[in-house]
Amino acid sequence: MLAELGAEAREVRTPGDLAGLDGLVLPGGESTTMTLGLEREGLAEPLRDLLASGIPTLATCAGMIVLDREHLDVLDLVARRNAFGRQVRSFETDLELPGVSGGPLRAVFIRAPWVEDHGQRVEVLAELEGHPVAVRQGDVLAVAFHPELTKDGRLHRWLIDAIAARDVREAA
Ligand code: GLN
Repeated sequence: MLAELGAEAREVRTPGDLAGLDGLVLPGGESTTMTLGLEREGLAEPLRDLLASGIPTLATCAGMIVLDREHLDVLDLVARRNAFGRQVRSFETDLELPGVSGGPLRAVFIRAPWVEDHGQRVEVLAELEGHPVAVRQGDVLAVAFHPELTKDGRLHRWLIDAIAARDVREAA
């Protein structure tokens, strides 16, 4: 998705891979495995530092969980894992996000979390069943669904635009 939008992307597997990045994507997957992997590779601390420096970030599904207060403690929120329950753990719906123009996004939820609790630094962009499923804190956009599973690149575009805006701010 990033390559289609003209961005150069690489996987981060070791702390050295973080050097020189302008933005981050924390993908979906399985948050326990991801958290253990981050610790094992010595990535947790450098990743936390990079996020604290304000690097623009798109976190999706398990990526949102990994950033919550109970994991890397980057976002001022608690994500509830598998929040939509077993029987409806995967579904699709249309979501309207402020700041994302061009009509609603098709949002694919796969054993998705929702935001159970959050502080004032967290801006809620979209809710489902009365719970936030898309939030922003500074230049971190965290969504409970999988934007990379559709052909709609608008959230990845948001990341690229956030990087460009930060470059302009820093040059000024
Ligand atoms: N249920 C997974 C977890 O708890 C997240 C699922 C996903 O990323 N699609 O980590």
